[in-house]
Amino acid sequence: MFEALVPIHIATLAAYPPGKPLEELERELGITDSIKLASNENPLGPSPLALRAIAGQLNRLHRYPDANAYYLKQRLSRHLQVAPAQLICGNGSDEILELIMRAFVQPGQEVISAAPSFLMYGLLTQGAGGIFRPVPLKNFAVDLGAILQAVTDRAKVIIINNPNNPTGTAVSRSDWEDFLEALPPQVIVVVDEAYIEFAETPTVPQGLEYLREDRPLIGLRTFSKAYGLAGLRIGYGYGPSTLIGYLDRLRSPFNVNSLAQAAAVAALDDDDFLARTRQVVKEGLAYICGALDQLGVPYIPTQTNFLLIQVGRDSREVYEQMLRQGVIIRAMGSYQLPEYIRVNAGLPEENQRFIATFKRVMGYGD
Ligand SMILES: *Cc1c(COP(=O)(O)O)cnc(C)c1O
Repeated sequence: MFEALVPIHIATLAAYPPGKPLEELERELGITDSIKLASNENPLGPSPLALRAIAGQLNRLHRYPDANAYYLKQRLSRHLQVAPAQLICGNGSDEILELIMRAFVQPGQEVISAAPSFLMYGLLTQGAGGIFRPVPLKNFAVDLGAILQAVTDRAKVIIINNPNNPTGTAVSRSDWEDFLEALPPQVIVVVDEAYIEFAETPTVPQGLEYLREDRPLIGLRTFSKAYGLAGLRIGYGYGPSTLIGYLDRLRSPFNVNSLAQAAAVAALDDDDFLARTRQVVKEGLAYICGALDQLGVPYIPTQTNFLLIQVGRDSREVYEQMLRQGVIIRAMGSYQLPEYIRVNAGLPEENQRFIATFKRVMGYGD
């Protein structure tokens, strides 16, 4: 019913497949000790400073939030060395991505990105009536040269996820600079840096270094991963103030709630939490990679807090079997990688449980 009322690009939208929530699995299995390594969340929980800031805001919940996120933009401005007018905050960086589509992509225009990469890029493009052009990865890495070749005069936005979810790879600085140099001026480049805080290689380029008022480049970052605030929904974008201004006028006035604003300011002050997060991720990945090496199971070296692992069989089965043993990971079928799983680094005991369960499910024995 009602098909005639819905535009075809909306009627044919696929739903985003989120990682399974812990509570849902526990409800289904009647268990209580499951673990989730499926959504690249922070295993340490939220930043303690952020929690304190949230507690301090609770008695002000009857007030609308600051529509301009003044204090957060001031704090980010200091953190990133950019002007407040070059910043926009969003209900997760997902929201800013959606604003970008609505602001810049007209029906029939094209959005180019790598594939497999973050599934939201295709969904949000289609939601805006745009046409999504996925360009295959080369050796699991974003192929900037091939993306350039895919640019036609219908191209409007290029999204580069650096480092790339779900493969964990980063672009090289020289490839990135060649790419920027060769871009036609009518194309807006969006660099999604959801995992940039985890990049271990110091030469990985950050969009921020290339921010210029006369360059159509927008960077996106999030508090959902390294800062442990996924449930609050807060992210931000940086770019030339004119482009940011369009997004700002398009957003709903109170898009970032007051608890999220206060928590994000505090999280940026919590250097200790960020350092501990990086450390636990680094050690966790080293442990998981070491165990996989011993088993001879291939994986893609990562610049993020997660790992793409080749299981060499239908990953859906591996996922289902691990689920029944209380371990939530991600099967990569919906990312066109049916024989891969994606797992994020957890706490040491979670990583051990993942490896022990993985061995049982894969038939490696102990
Ligand atoms: C997790 C993630 C985000 C962050 O989304 P939020 O809406 O800020 O939670 C953005 N891009 C990619 C590639 C991600 O993996």
